[in-house]
Order: sequence, then structure tokens, then C-alpha cells
Amino acid sequence: MKKTIDLLIVGGGIAGLWTLAKATDAGFRCLLVEKDALGAGQTVASQGIIHGGLKFALGGKITKATEQIRQMPSIWQQHLNGELSPSLNQTTILSKAHYFVPSSGIDSQLVSFLGSKLAAGFTTKVDIHNLSNDYQRITQKPSLYQLHEWVLDVPSLLTNFKQRYGHLMVKHHFSDDHLIATDNGYVYQLDDLALNTRFVLQAAGTGNDSSVFNSTKKQLRPLHMVMVKGQLPKVFAHFIASGSKPLMTVTSHPLDDETVWYIGGELAESGNKLSSLEQKQKAADWLTKSIPEIHWQQMPMATFRIDRAEAKQLNLFRPDDVFIHNQQGVITGFPTKLAFAPRFADKVLELLKIEKTDKKPQTSENVRNNIQLPEVTIAPTPWESAKWSPLDSNPPN
Ligand SMILES: Cc1cc2nc3c(=O)[nH]c(=O)nc-3n(C[C@H](O)[C@H](O)[C@H](O)COP(=O)(O)OP(=O)(O)OC[C@H]3O[C@@H](n4cnc5c(N)ncnc54)[C@H](O)[C@@H]3O)c2cc1C
Repeated sequence: MKKTIDLLIVGGGIAGLWTLAKATDAGFRCLLVEKDALGAGQTVASQGIIHGGLKFALGGKITKATEQIRQMPSIWQQHLNGELSPSLNQTTILSKAHYFVPSSGIDSQLVSFLGSKLAAGFTTKVDIHNLSNDYQRITQKPSLYQLHEWVLDVPSLLTNFKQRYGHLMVKHHFSDDHLIATDNGYVYQLDDLALNTRFVLQAAGTGNDSSVFNSTKKQLRPLHMVMVKGQLPKVFAHFIASGSKPLMTVTSHPLDDETVWYIGGELAESGNKLSSLEQKQKAADWLTKSIPEIHWQQMPMATFRIDRAEAKQLNLFRPDDVFIHNQQGVITGFPTKLAFAPRFADKVLELLKIEKTDKKPQTSENVRNNIQLPEVTIAPTPWESAKWSPLDSNPPN
């Protein structure tokens, strides 16, 4: 059996999903293949923060990264409000703000930076009494700097794409052994179906390995995330000291009747060589320094390892922007951040439009029809599949 489409998308993370939505809306015939579940790579492991850039300017200057990402929160908000397609109005918004929480030894330079003109427009100073009591449980400071960055519940974000575009997705492990170049694109052998496609988009994160794409252009940055659960305050906070990165970036997520603190930042980046037990111990030490009132040693904890997949940079630096590479119709890309997904999809669409054949794109059909492959589900979050244990499993009475 044969079928003809315009774009075969490999990977059901945020990059593949957003591109599927935009390309389908623009009239391209698309099919997305995902080997595990939607979001199964970095997307569902992300903290769901729609960054606006200031976090990346903590060193004291606005960089290229800050400029590029600055527009993202307002674009996302229009999608989340259902004003732009893809509508993301089924998404649970966990918080409409994130806060900088200075540690006690913080240098005055950073505090004055946060109050400076440079940071103006990114932050507002908020009296702690105007925030929920939860914030008074984590700091003695009379006021906090607020970032206007929304934090999303990622599984509910993915649900929007599945509901609207699920008929264009199948569970399948892409392999370029099954991809053959033709005069006007590629044929991909999908079980007993020969799929003719003009373009292939590799949005497979760590799986961007096709021989067409030179895999030396990929870098992996390992993270060792920490999770703590219990009756914790529901806060969204960057704990900052004097460095250019937050010590700990905390997002709060509901799990049964408890709250999970999912912790990234410097703790996760510097902890990649530690064992899980060592990483938990380090987290407990750092948390105790910031919030001594909570008995961290007695809280159930878990750790989670994941690689960030990005375009290769010198010295493993963090890339500034999305990355797209087109080689004869095989497009390989890294959004670099969840927040960059709209920009990533727009850039892929520019390529499709430039390289499009003279044929007018047709309205989306149910491409999955007649393909005997399973539906894709939504991946569980790291805290749903975690193995929990407190550091101190025999707490004193
Ligand atoms: C711990 C962590 C926290 C983060 N927090 C944030 C944040 O708060 N804000 C932010 O903006 N960014 C954040 N990021 C970055 C963000 O998550 C990523 O940039 C983004 O999710 C990457 O999306 P993606 O679609 O390119 O890749 P992925 O989400 O990794 O998706 C790739 C998909 O491709 C599939 N796949 C792989 N190989 C194949 C194959 N051969 N065939 C079929 N399917 C395949 C995988 O199963 C996976 O589902 C975070 C990242 C990490 C790791």
C-alpha cells in the first residue's frame, strides 16, 4: 500500500507536536511517529517554565539568549488563552509567576542588578504579604522579585495536541534504514505501507541520530534532578546566590494529596556525577541552608537523570536559540527550550514554504487511516514513576 504526505515528523515532544499543529493548519499533510509516548523525552521531564529571559541574564548583562526568548511568554499566553492556533486552552497553569528567592549570603551586586534598569520590564518587586503564605514559609525577606513567567502542567499541555491532532500520530520507532531518497523526496517503509514524503523532520531530541544528519552536531548536557514530596509549600522559585545560575529552581506539582518539589538549576547541573544517594544528601544540605524549618532528611526524596539534547556548542555552552539544519529535505532540529517551541515551528514552516513544490497544499486528511499502528499515549511525569525514600528512613521520635 502507498500513501503520500508532505512531512513525516519524528518525535512527539514539544518540537514535533507544535510543528505538526502549525504545518497541518497551513495545509501540509503530516504524520508524526513517536517511539514511546508523547513527551517521553525531555518535554515531560521539563519544569514547564515559559522563560522570559531574565534568569539567563543573572550574570549582569542581557545576552542574545535573553533577546530571543523575551517574546516567548506573550506568544504562549495567546495560545494558552485560545486566541491563536494551536489552542492550548486545556492546559493547567500551575503559576502565573516565578520568584527570585535570595539566599542569606547573597552579594549586594546581584540584588542591585535585580533592581536595576536592565532588569526593568522583566521583574516587579512584590511585598511578601501580597503573596500566598507559602512564600513566607520559604523566606524571611520582606519582598521578592517576581518574574512574569507562567509555569505549565506539561501532561495537560500535551493533551491539547493529542485531542486535536491525535489522528495524525502513530506509535512507531523511526529508523533511517527504512528511508530511501527519491527524485522528489523520500519513501519511508512503515510496516506494509510505503509512505512518500517530501520532507522529514527529526525532532527526536537525544534520538536525532539519522545518518543524514551529522550526529557530531549534537551535544548532551546531563542533569540530575531532585524531587521531594510531602505537605510542602506550593512555590515557584529560583533560589539565587552570587553565581550566574540559580542554585535551585523549584517548581511545585500536585501528586495525590501532596506536593512535589521538582528541583533543577545548579543543583541538577553540578550533580550529574553523583550517585542518587549523594545527590539527595547534597539537595538536603542546600535546602536546609535555605529553609532550616523543614526536616528535609525525613521527607521522601527521589532523583531523576535526563540529558538535555541541543545543537553542539563550544565547551558544552548553552545554545542561545533554536537550531534547524536542512539537508536535502531532512530537517533536523532542537528547540533548545520548551519555551522556544513556537519559534522552532515557525522556522520549520519557513523551510517547508520555501522548498515547497508548486502543488497547493491540501487540507489535512486522516493520514492515520489504514495504518495499522497503535495510538500514542501521554508519558508519565518523573514524579509519577519515581521510587521515593527519605534520607533518614528511621527519623527520631
Ligand atoms: C530536566 C529538564 C527541565 C527543563 N525545563 C525547562 C523549562 O522549564 N522551560 C523550558 O523552556 N525548557 C526546559 N527544558 C528544555 C525542554 O524540555 C526541551 O528543550 C524540549 O522539551 C525539547 O523538546 P523536543 O521535542 O525537541 O525533544 P523531546 O521532548 O526529547 O522529544 C523527543 C521525542 O522523540 C522521540 N523519539 C526519539 N527517537 C525516536 C525515534 N527513532 N522514532 C520515534 N520517536 C523518537 C522520544 O521518545 C521523544 O518523545 C528542560 C529540559 C530538561 C531535561
